[in-house]
Amino acid sequence: MTAKTAEERIRELQALVEQHNYRYYVLDDPEVSDAEYDRLFDELRAIEEAHPELVGPDSPTQRIGAAPSERFQKLRHLQTMGSLDKATTHEEMLKWAEDVRRRLDLDEPIAFVTEPKIDGSAISLVYENGAFVRGATRGDGEEGEDVTRNLRTIRSIPLTMRLAPGEKPPPLVEVRGEIYLPLEGFRSLNEQLVAQGRKPSPNPRNAAAGSLRQLDPRITASRPLAIWVYGIGAVERLELETHSQALAWLREHGFRTNPGAERHDSIESVLEACEEWERRRAGLDYEIDGLVVKVDSLAQQAALGALHQRPRWARAFKWAPTTAQTKLLGIHVRVGRTGALNPWAELEPVEVGGVTISTATLHNEDDINRKDIREGDTVIVQRAGDVIPQVAGPVLPHPEGAEPFRMPRDCPLCGAEIVKPEGEAMHRCPNRACPSRGLETLIHWVQAAMDIEGVGEKFVRKLWAAGLLRSMPDLYRLRVEQLTELEGYGEISAQRAIEAIDLSKQQPFFRVLFGLNIPHVGFVTAQSLAYHLGSVERLAAATQEEIQEVEGIGPIVAEAVADWFADEENSQLVAELGALGLRLELAEDERPAEGRLSGHVYVVTGTLEHFSRAQAQAALEELGARVTDSVSAKTTAVIAGENPGSKIEKATRLGVNIVGERGLEELLSGE
Ligand code: NAD
Repeated sequence: MTAKTAEERIRELQALVEQHNYRYYVLDDPEVSDAEYDRLFDELRAIEEAHPELVGPDSPTQRIGAAPSERFQKLRHLQTMGSLDKATTHEEMLKWAEDVRRRLDLDEPIAFVTEPKIDGSAISLVYENGAFVRGATRGDGEEGEDVTRNLRTIRSIPLTMRLAPGEKPPPLVEVRGEIYLPLEGFRSLNEQLVAQGRKPSPNPRNAAAGSLRQLDPRITASRPLAIWVYGIGAVERLELETHSQALAWLREHGFRTNPGAERHDSIESVLEACEEWERRRAGLDYEIDGLVVKVDSLAQQAALGALHQRPRWARAFKWAPTTAQTKLLGIHVRVGRTGALNPWAELEPVEVGGVTISTATLHNEDDINRKDIREGDTVIVQRAGDVIPQVAGPVLPHPEGAEPFRMPRDCPLCGAEIVKPEGEAMHRCPNRACPSRGLETLIHWVQAAMDIEGVGEKFVRKLWAAGLLRSMPDLYRLRVEQLTELEGYGEISAQRAIEAIDLSKQQPFFRVLFGLNIPHVGFVTAQSLAYHLGSVERLAAATQEEIQEVEGIGPIVAEAVADWFADEENSQLVAELGALGLRLELAEDERPAEGRLSGHVYVVTGTLEHFSRAQAQAALEELGARVTDSVSAKTTAVIAGENPGSKIEKATRLGVNIVGERGLEELLSGE
């Protein structure tokens, strides 16, 4: 390439990469797949390497991420938060290990640590004297966004460090980790977004980053975010020699470190781990896109340093991209348990990230047409959440004669005319007697909602065919003799199924709600409704406006819920389930999930200046915390006023943190 054309291509690629960085890091809404982005980035880097004179400090290869969004206060990191150089082959890893050995001028083998590379959003958490004081996103590595209030809603982030009896916390520790969304949470979030006619999130990483960067912490609190902690940044008065020691220290002090971290004495052992984890990856309930390999010795890390904010002492070993191209053979429609029409893609089988895919979800008609996907297209498929394959978009041009997709006018199961309610993204079959409803509802009930052991789709289909099962109450009236008459059931297996069904009566109230098949009410919405309204009775009596006051519930969902309960047949169903012994109200032990302090347990003792004990308790409970009378190892902190008494001794003995009235005020204000 001549210098002129190289310069042009560099400019073009820089602009493209910058644009994708902006969409990915600032808007959490990428336009292209990671594989496509990586291709552009690698091309840019290769041309820049060949023409170093053309590389300016502004090139995206010299910087990481994107500048923090203006929507948040900026926080300057105490220590740069870098990115990672990647490797995709064993040869590249061996070359890197050799480079490390040469730079360190060592003959003896180097120890490494491998950790799953969590696909989420990097975060820095600052602890002063054992208390969490602020936290920020990575941003451009030097400055991030202050998301402290949102971070306080994440239950797996300790607000205070766990300390051994008599141990003094270091004055300052900056903990680094990854905020992520477990796959189950990702699926229900998308279910909710699609039902609300909004665009589904392309992958758990963007969903996690978007949930974390909400202006309203209550929205963050309603998303089941979690953290894996993987390192220490700036620190005062804490002597550690290796990264493995740092992980052990973090674990001992109450941080959630990933159990998959392993120490290796050779690079060969690292490579074995890279292979092994590619197989283990599918069994995890969170997304990983590779392994991070780090030099274990902190002194060696310091000697190696970093280049363009990418440490020389670490590599991200990434597996093959989870996207591929194939032919879209047809678009079909399945009628779900709520009568919603779900289009899905029939694909020419193709391997994506080690799994052969022949079907993929297509969400709804609007989404298909927005992406302009047509039958006969060559399409890009990706595995989001690494499990559910999706069609990302077509490779243009369309084949000749390919028509835009239209939903069928009549239900493919019962022939009723399909409707698209105003303001909704989904088309629906309005026929309540449509076979989609009963059978699919029952399958949903036994599997997803009540999670009945050994009683699944096959069981339901068999009993449906035998005429023994038409609705949920039928399930709880089944007798052993009825089952043994069916093929495949002996006395023992029938007994076992009946017992499992009986046991499911103990499932919490929100699962019953989730199972009732109320339009738009997925797992997360059912939880919110249960926690906020507390019982079927209150829910049924609530007006649409009252339901809409529940966090995360908009007018469409509220209307659907109110309509559902207004229907006589539905009230009867609920009453019948109640009479059979299912839970129709929130039990004592069902903890409300919402609230910045959910998951935290406090003990209030002694005399406070500005609050009575009852006031302090009510204020903490309002934020989702539990307040108990006795101190135990599960206590997050003891809030102590004047003359606190023996609880302080016990807290000290158990290593539970003790804070004064100021600490309480800080907790309540979220500062
Ligand atoms: P990265 O995701 O490749 O790796 C660095 C990050 O890994 C760290 O910041 C940290 O957040 C994370 N990480 C997870 N587990 C870790 C562990 N155990 N130890 C240390 N770090 C761990 O780098 P990046 O700079 O965050 O993002 C670059 C990648 O993002 C690209 O390769 C591309 O795949 C994707 N991207 C995509 C687009 C797009 O438009 N599709 C745009 C920009 C970036």
